[in-house]
Amino acid sequence: MGYNKDDIQLTTNFRASEFRCPCCGLGEIAPETVFVVQRLRDELGVPLRINSGVRCVKHNKEVGGVVNSQHVMKTAADVSCSLGVSKIWNILKELYDKGEIPPLGYAQKYSTFVHIDTRKTKVNNKFNDQGILDA
Ligand SMILES: [Zn+2]
Ligand SMILES: [Zn+2]
Repeated sequence: MGYNKDDIQLTTNFRASEFRCPCCGLGEIAPETVFVVQRLRDELGVPLRINSGVRCVKHNKEVGGVVNSQHVMKTAADVSCSLGVSKIWNILKELYDKGEIPPLGYAQKYSTFVHIDTRKTKVNNKFNDQGILDA
């Protein structure tokens, strides 16, 4: 994997820059979240776009994020791909049910992306029919 001091390759398909706050470059996304994203990418077999990763408080406010957003806590990633959000969601559910990825705190399927976070406070939740991983 390539080494660039300003943009370290974290996994086979993802570089540190992809998870940084777009306004200030704040980084240090949770390793568990990167692991989940790479496993999804492996199963999908097509590029997975990180729509949003780490956000500073200012940027989170600008994009209308909730106050205690997991993006600010550095555990969240919003992802999308050419195969659509339902495909991502189904693979996420499968990996989760098989115990192949770290515990997810929360996940939700939106119309154009899937939000995934690995917060420690909500674990062992269930996927429901509304496209939400919840207690
Ligand atoms: Zn920022
Ligand atoms: Zn999100």
